[in-house]
Amino acid sequence: MSEKTNVVELFGQNVFSDAVMEQRLPKKVYKELKKTIEDGADLDPTIAEVVADAMKEWAIEKGATHYTHWFQPLTGTTAEKHDSFISAPKSNGTVLMEFSGKELIKGEPDASSFPSGGLRATFEARGYTAWDVSSPAFVREDAAGATLCIPTAFYSYTGEALDKKTPLLRSMEAINTQALRLLRLFGNTTSKKVTPSVGPEQEYFLVDREKYLKRKDLVFTGRTLFGAMPPKGQELDDHYFGAIRERVGAFMKDLNKELWILGVTAKTQHNEVAPAQHEIAPIYSQCNLAVDQNQIVMEMLKKVAYRHGLAALIHEKPFAGVNGSGKHNNWSITTDDGINLLDPGKTPHENMQFLLVLTCIMKAVDIHADLLRESAADVGNDHRLGANEAPPAIISMFLGEQLEDVIEQLINTGSATSSKEGSVLKTGVNALPDVEKDATDRNRTSPFAFTGNKFEFRMVGSSDSIAGPNVILNTIVAEAFCDACDELEKAENFEDALHDLIKKNATEHRRIVFNGNGYSDEWIAEAERRGLPNLRSMVDAVPSITTEKAVRMFEKFGVYSRAELESRSEVMYESYAKEINIEAKAMLDIASKQIIPAVVKYTTRLGASINTIKSACEDADISTQKELLLECSDLLRDTKVALAALQDLVAEGEAMADGRDCAIFYHDKVMSAMDALRAPVDKLEMLVDKDMWPMPSYGDLLFEV
Ligand code: ADP
Ligand code: MG
Repeated sequence: MSEKTNVVELFGQNVFSDAVMEQRLPKKVYKELKKTIEDGADLDPTIAEVVADAMKEWAIEKGATHYTHWFQPLTGTTAEKHDSFISAPKSNGTVLMEFSGKELIKGEPDASSFPSGGLRATFEARGYTAWDVSSPAFVREDAAGATLCIPTAFYSYTGEALDKKTPLLRSMEAINTQALRLLRLFGNTTSKKVTPSVGPEQEYFLVDREKYLKRKDLVFTGRTLFGAMPPKGQELDDHYFGAIRERVGAFMKDLNKELWILGVTAKTQHNEVAPAQHEIAPIYSQCNLAVDQNQIVMEMLKKVAYRHGLAALIHEKPFAGVNGSGKHNNWSITTDDGINLLDPGKTPHENMQFLLVLTCIMKAVDIHADLLRESAADVGNDHRLGANEAPPAIISMFLGEQLEDVIEQLINTGSATSSKEGSVLKTGVNALPDVEKDATDRNRTSPFAFTGNKFEFRMVGSSDSIAGPNVILNTIVAEAFCDACDELEKAENFEDALHDLIKKNATEHRRIVFNGNGYSDEWIAEAERRGLPNLRSMVDAVPSITTEKAVRMFEKFGVYSRAELESRSEVMYESYAKEINIEAKAMLDIASKQIIPAVVKYTTRLGASINTIKSACEDADISTQKELLLECSDLLRDTKVALAALQDLVAEGEAMADGRDCAIFYHDKVMSAMDALRAPVDKLEMLVDKDMWPMPSYGDLLFEV
């Protein structure tokens, strides 16, 4: 890794950035490429040839020996197939380093084993990857050497999207078209492009690697499947924003550096609520770049942790009973000339364009609450959403005092005449300056909160790709914009029609707005009264993507075809069942090979010591030892019974055909059998001699980094 520490020098060092392209490409080629990037058009093959050559030279200077089309299959992670630049040897036995335009813009991984949900039979294994020109190539250095990574989209021979990137790019196109229509209605003739901006905040846990390796559950599944609560949890709130420990600090320093080199604007870092939990956030960027870079962040967290003798846990719920990890997806829409459509200005009640945008988003989120919820569904996130942890599985919107007041005025009187203003917040300490109080307070319990000039979608799971949620956000808002434009474009009196439409949207969709405590039981009841969906698990959420309402919208905006949606639902059911199956089998393995033998050893020793004590001293009181022996033996029997039950269910599950029924079986039956096995084991952990317990405890993992 580079020894430099100057951020300005480090930043983007390994990125084939705009500046590098300008410097290394002939002027004409650079201009053409820029145009392609800006317009999202196909790259001319002759241009590609020149770009490929420059890219190759640059990458080789950086030490690269290989290149890869870096893509995002439906597994939610990234995939790559490496090719070296080496050419076939010439007759004199020497080789050249080659990289053609064709190799740059199109690759052909034989990708038959990626999940495609029936879109592509294995005999038609061919899949193509194509460079997403708006996301720059970069050179990644690791133990495998240096590799030129080309961010790509992945699709089938017949053009169906096999990845998360293709629909994302399509959804960006959809919102661009509709937002431009909307802007034109307000007399904007200068903006040429509208792009969603995204800033994802990534939460994760750091634990000691040696201890991690002793926890087979963490190794196999990313979360602990057993574990009694430590005496101390997060109740003191002493970790949140607490001083960063030396070892963690060294890790963060290294992580930032690695990310900067790859052009990721790592910006904020702090300790999170739970012990050993942390967060990193970059500065927001164009949606597709943010998606790619979030993948880089997740990969880098793991790599750098390894280097520091740590393990980064990206799972949504590594520890039961301890706060889980999410990913806050901050989202806004901005024009190429710098107008943020979500910026209310100082007097939102006068800002009709903003009010239209806002009420369109209310409509989008209300109508497609189920889709938004589904976009945050992954197996790990089921342990957070709706499971006594934040945020709940119900979608609602937080607007804050000021905007809610404007909306109320609109609904009640037909127009808004005032905006509550922010005031100066007295700190009460003379040495501290009084701070300007935001007109909008924060509500940490809302899954979809307006935070000044952006919405923060807080449901997303920490390990999930943010592509899915942004596809949904972009498309549902594009649809609402489209509906509004259809109506306003044909209006005879624009002002009147606009006024009516804003009022209509606000009135019809006010039920989605909720400014109260989203964690309370009252809210669950209230949401039910309002008719808002409460999709508690991933299995409950999956059907949302294939409803007629969803298919109609996605097809209308060319984001997903019906077949693509159906394939995604299949992949989700399949991966759900598979993941739970792996967890169940990991539990069986750990319980049979580690826990039961340890308890047997402990009880045998207890039994032996009872006899020893008895023969040494007839009158000694051995009631405690006996009681302990009894208790442990009872729990051992419970463990064995639960283990056998889980074993049977796993066998049954594995014999089932993939699909919804199988996923439901795992959700309803296997998961509860897993809980039943965990319960006696966690009790045993509290009884058995710590030296004999076969794995590090929660306390060891959470407090000894
Ligand atoms: P918080 O206080 O909510 O934890 P952070 O600073 O951790 O805030 O993260 C906020 C994220 O939102 C950052 O990634 C930031 O760049 C991003 N962000 C800020 N403004 C916008 C915007 N207009 N659109 C999208 N994302 C934004
Ligand atoms: Mg934050």
